[in-house]
Amino acid sequence: MNHKKNIIIALLAMPLGFFSCSKDDETTTPEPETLVVVDPKLEQALDQQFPLGFKYNLQNNELTFVKVFDSYTNEAVERDLFDRNDADAMAQKFVDLIPYNIRKETAFLYLTGSRPNGGNFEGFVESINTNDNTHWLVALGIGSYIFADESTREENLIGTMIHEFAHIKSANSEQASRNVGNCGQNELDSGQECFKSDSYMVNFYNTFWEDILEEWTEDSEAYYNAHQEDFVTGYASSNYSEDFAESFRVFVFEDAMSTGNTKADQKVNFFYQFDYWKSIRLAIRENL
Ligand SMILES: [Zn+2]
Repeated sequence: MNHKKNIIIALLAMPLGFFSCSKDDETTTPEPETLVVVDPKLEQALDQQFPLGFKYNLQNNELTFVKVFDSYTNEAVERDLFDRNDADAMAQKFVDLIPYNIRKETAFLYLTGSRPNGGNFEGFVESINTNDNTHWLVALGIGSYIFADESTREENLIGTMIHEFAHIKSANSEQASRNVGNCGQNELDSGQECFKSDSYMVNFYNTFWEDILEEWTEDSEAYYNAHQEDFVTGYASSNYSEDFAESFRVFVFEDAMSTGNTKADQKVNFFYQFDYWKSIRLAIRENL
């Protein structure tokens, strides 16, 4: 038997726990449970698919700058309006706004986009795995932020973060699967995922979209023009998922339930039925 080798292995395995040991251990709040880290091979594939600006790793409650993609060019960066310090500050805003214990699914953050006046996008989210929705990336538009009017840019950015986060929390692995094209009975096929029959999205869809779908599908723009009061914003009328995320954003921002009785008010108040959404709202509002 090679005892020496066993002892060395045991010592190598214990130092962190050994040195951090203290008499206060029993009273310390347990660390939040961590997600399995994204497979490096998957991350490589992801880098090829999304060579997007500044990349940050958010796994395990840490904000770590990973890299700026070589292929990345950006008008704001070229004009020295946005540099690594600005990127760090913007990324920090995201982790300060959305506490780790409710954003464990969010593995990576990208800061990207280049056109002035927010012409390209404000943000998007994407499930990282092809077979489940356990890990996500969130991308935020630099251009939409830096070229926006200074008086509204902070609120816009925070609103975008909340909106994008609603997409993740409404389509994570508890809420949706990725059997697209082969969804189960009473599930909702978004083309990206199958929302489970008992998901919040199916509930929202059944409440607000099932009856309007035919008319909306015929001409969504005409539908919006004729029913503007049914939506919190024009963008909310894009589809049920955007309607959900936009209504959630207003639900977080507003101090109290809507007292009006329009469909838009009902959509904002929809979230008050559920502890899940109420607790997310409160956790975010503590940081507003
Ligand atoms: Zn959206």
